[in-house]
Amino acid sequence: MFQRFSGNDGSLMNQTIRVRFAPSPTGKLHIGGARTALYNWAFARKNGGSFVLRIEDTDTERSTPENTAQIIRSLRWLGLSWDEGPDAGGSYGPYLQSERTAVYAAVLEQLKARGRVYPCFCTPEELEARREAAQAEKRYSGYDRSCRALSEAEVAERLARGTAHTWRLKLPLDRKTVDFDDLVFGQISVPMEQLDDFILLRTDGTPTYNFVVCVDDAQMRISHVIRGDDHLSNTPKQILVYEAMDTPPPAFAHLSMILGADGKRLSKRHGAASVEDWREEGYLSDALVNYLALLGWSLDGETSIMSRATLTSHFSLARVSRNPAVFDPEKLAWMNQVYLKALGASAFVDAWEPYLVHDGLATAGDIAERRAWFEAVYPLVVERIHTLGEVDEKTAYLFGGGTVALDEESVEKCLEPEGSLAILEAALALLGDEALCWDAEALEATLRTIPELLGLKPRQVFQALRVAVCGNRVSLPLFESMVLLGRDACVERLERAREFAG
Ligand code: GLU
Repeated sequence: MFQRFSGNDGSLMNQTIRVRFAPSPTGKLHIGGARTALYNWAFARKNGGSFVLRIEDTDTERSTPENTAQIIRSLRWLGLSWDEGPDAGGSYGPYLQSERTAVYAAVLEQLKARGRVYPCFCTPEELEARREAAQAEKRYSGYDRSCRALSEAEVAERLARGTAHTWRLKLPLDRKTVDFDDLVFGQISVPMEQLDDFILLRTDGTPTYNFVVCVDDAQMRISHVIRGDDHLSNTPKQILVYEAMDTPPPAFAHLSMILGADGKRLSKRHGAASVEDWREEGYLSDALVNYLALLGWSLDGETSIMSRATLTSHFSLARVSRNPAVFDPEKLAWMNQVYLKALGASAFVDAWEPYLVHDGLATAGDIAERRAWFEAVYPLVVERIHTLGEVDEKTAYLFGGGTVALDEESVEKCLEPEGSLAILEAALALLGDEALCWDAEALEATLRTIPELLGLKPRQVFQALRVAVCGNRVSLPLFESMVLLGRDACVERLERAREFAG
């Protein structure tokens, strides 16, 4: 589809928008990668373009099919969809770099034929020694281009002998700078002195990242490269590769890194870092997407809760910030609660189910059979949690029928003091009334008579009852908990608690 494309997002007009997310499957999908994927997706959707997933699995030692599968699962869970990719197909595949070896070899042959690359026979030891010497003399320590000066005959002779070699890009020597207009960082100019004739093909025949990324982006007709700013220093090199290939480069937009609260680059030290970790902790994908959307971009500087649809209808690179974003777990937790509150009881129970099953509190069968009971827990618990992972701990006392694990400190503070036995007996007597309606209002009205009856403070009475019934002095609301537990379980718990009561 053709888009009229202008303004702050670049000067490309009437261009097909094609963007890609190109993860290396060397681990799980991290927050930074997820944000890059999200911005690419939102940019494509906003502009009626295509979003391509390309797996950069050339690092055969660290890339695994499991990681690829995991990354795809995480992207799907986030609700991102791609138009082309290893699983989706498309006209510009294959989309796994490991299956594109022949493509890279063919482009290298073209570059050789056009005299844009040369073989370098320097050994790693020679290169290292020269680098050290240059550093000691505080000279530029990049490759000194010695093999660029070899005669044709000498090159042919060494190649014929099978001398180990790399292939390096011939940088233009008459040029002063490489310039590009980054759509986030603005005009960037890099002096050529800072660049050397870098390697496109290693001694073992494998192509380098800076080479394959250009071949792929060119062949896949990528219009905009949106990626982390850790690649900013690669961009001038890639522009030189495009020039050597005689292909116009795509537009570039680099995204500032994500920092932890301590100002350091976000990593495992800051807690959960991968999308998988957040999912397991019980964050909702809608909340995570919403949070990531705002980690470096804003709709209007104010709106904090927004759907994917709002994001895809408003996303623009012009509103991406060049300042590093600070990851704030508390804000994410707050946002997750907002989404949990908006879920409604039925969707909440669906989302809670895997946790219940995992923690052995209920089976899928129990949940299906007593659906209304589980849904009734929702309004009580949702105000008191920020993640699904916290629900089981907060509600565990509602399972287990007539027995409940008693928290030692709560017993000591609230059950052992004198008067508790009388409280429990009074409650048992009142609850024994068969005519008592078992709902929260009736229970409250009935049990509220105990303080006066015994001449005790309401706080003491209800804390003792709470510990007896819920096992802890902190719990969901007492009367609603009693309704959920049912009469028999409550009576049994009160009876058992007598043993500890003072
Ligand atoms: N595979 C690279 C990475 O995971 C991405 C390269 C790019 O976006 O140009 O960092």
